[in-house]
Amino acid sequence: MQVSDGEGLDAVPDCLFCKIVAGDIPAEIVSTTEYTVAFRDINPQAPTHVLVIPRLHAPDVASLALASPEAAAALLVETRRIAMGEGHDSYRLVFNTGADAGQTVFHAHGHVLAGRGLDWPPG
Ligand code: C5P
Repeated sequence: MQVSDGEGLDAVPDCLFCKIVAGDIPAEIVSTTEYTVAFRDINPQAPTHVLVIPRLHAPDVASLALASPEAAAALLVETRRIAMGEGHDSYRLVFNTGADAGQTVFHAHGHVLAGRGLDWPPG
């Protein structure tokens, strides 16, 4: 595995989530850290549905982990902190990866879902 230090993950002008990171598009922000921004999904699928995204632009979470392990680890830790902060010991963390898997925004993001029973297998 070859990792780097986040080089080449600059903001992409037409990326929706880069615009949220920059504050150019409004979002209901839940938390911000050195590495991440978290906000409520505009189309919530559970009582708690928060998206945690890296400040760096990477198209998916594996690409992020390869380019910046620190940012990927920070993102994962932040998902748990958010779930706990919203009062959930149990939560589902989803990274849709690729269009066939339902990814619609190609800036890495983890969905933190909690607050209702969650079926398995997912649809
Ligand atoms: O995994 P996927 O790429 O489909 O997730 C993108 C998510 O971003 C969707 O759940 C959508 O509701 C959310 N979204 C948002 N705010 C926007 C645009 C999309 O919360 N302005």
